[in-house]
Amino acid sequence: MNKEKTKEIIKPGWHKLIDKAYAITDMLSFAEIKDITTNHSMLQIHFDSALDNSQQYVLDCISYKIERESAKICEECGLNGFRRKDILHSPCLCTVCYTIQYNEKMESVSPQVTNQEPQ
Ligand SMILES: [Zn+2]
Repeated sequence: MNKEKTKEIIKPGWHKLIDKAYAITDMLSFAEIKDITTNHSMLQIHFDSALDNSQQYVLDCISYKIERESAKICEECGLNGFRRKDILHSPCLCTVCYTIQYNEKMESVSPQVTNQEPQ
């Protein structure tokens, strides 16, 4: 999977984290990205396994660090956010994106509101 294909799947707020992961692979000869997915609304970088234990440790630390960062970055816009447990799948959102999604959700489940008195 390449960087552009990954960005088609992952929401735009996390694209900088994807760039960061690929920048790391440019610096470390043993770091090769196998896949990028989301798990529990956090970004997961999957590296090819390294042959060397210390190299594997470095790769695991990088994955962990990026995962923790994604838990604090709005997946829609990239501002500071946190996981919103009252929306299905607990997306990580800033206040503005959260409000938009929350309103959309409420509009889809609420009866139509009108200013007419009930008949
Ligand atoms: Zn946002």
